Amino acid sequence: MLDIRTKTSLSEIVSYPLGESLEEIKQKYHLQAVRKMSDNENVYGCSEQVKEAIINNSHSLYLYPDGTTAMLKNKLAEHYKIDKNHILIGNGSEEIIRLLTRAYINQNDEAIMADITFPRYDTNVRIEGGTCIKVPLSNGKHDLETMHAKINKHTKMVFICNPNNPTGTITGKQQLLSFIDEIPKQTLIVLDEAYYEYVASDNYLQSVPLLKHYPNLIILRTFSKIYGIAGLRIGYGLMNEEIIKEINKVKDVFNVNHLAQSAALAALNDQSFVQQCARKNKAEIEYVSEKLTEWDISFFPSETNFLYIYSQLPLSAKLIENGLVVRQMKYNGFNDALRITLGKREDNEAFLAVVKEMI
Ligand SMILES: *Cc1c(COP(=O)(O)O)cnc(C)c1O
Repeated sequence: MLDIRTKTSLSEIVSYPLGESLEEIKQKYHLQAVRKMSDNENVYGCSEQVKEAIINNSHSLYLYPDGTTAMLKNKLAEHYKIDKNHILIGNGSEEIIRLLTRAYINQNDEAIMADITFPRYDTNVRIEGGTCIKVPLSNGKHDLETMHAKINKHTKMVFICNPNNPTGTITGKQQLLSFIDEIPKQTLIVLDEAYYEYVASDNYLQSVPLLKHYPNLIILRTFSKIYGIAGLRIGYGLMNEEIIKEINKVKDVFNVNHLAQSAALAALNDQSFVQQCARKNKAEIEYVSEKLTEWDISFFPSETNFLYIYSQLPLSAKLIENGLVVRQMKYNGFNDALRITLGKREDNEAFLAVVKEMI
């Protein structure tokens, strides 16, 4: 044992369970092929324009990337009709979560979040010595009333994942708006909208116009999901420029690599790719949801490219044996819960075939 102490907060933290590699799963279950349906990536890949941009930009790899990410900020400012000073680009939106906690969480500060949500909020708050206040989901959705009731003078951040990962659900437009309106000025509201582009519901709050009314509001979005460039690591936050000024003190100088910046620019330019993916995904979500309903398998209604399913049947073990790699979860009172990223029709048929066999 090394006799070197880490910072105190690390003693309670376990590293993220990355799970077995696809190769290991193939060997373990003697499979020819596996379908990766575990990490919510875009099964349709990315725009052809992105691939071109990467080739065209490969000549300047010897240079450090633009630490100010100016071109992409300009493009996003135009896209959203907001001031470029309200945009922060990160090495994935996960980096923005980390930078926020790094800059704002002090020992004994509190952060409120759902009990079943994106796990990086919890980990990053605790690394900085903060305390997480977890509020159970209500029927797969954020319980905004209880979350609000937990706010006190120590509350530094409130995390709302909308749509929520892993449940795929959204919070109602009016409820979320009233919630944001009632958050004290000294508490940051982190609205994680990683799956924004997939949402089809009319009951979804359009958050960008709220930025000018709520200086404590932070919106997170990413190029990892519908834009299909998770492998490049790039995401962004929209927020008040005073917050960005503080974050710039803790940010790595060249946090976003050159190819990622170029690829994101090209990705934003191809909105028809995004719309096509959203449309195809919606058809798949509806198709799979209908079958599951018909077979009496419980799941939450999803506005994303994944479904959260809970059952007394050992579904996830059976799926993995059949080469369908899903994310196993826990859900109170059920033997099994899983999150499955929807694929193309043939992937989804393979999934449904396994489930049908078990009912
Ligand atoms: C995938 C995901 C992210 C992280 O995305 P990156 O931009 O790849 O870091 C953030 N929040 C939620 C809810 C996600 O599902």
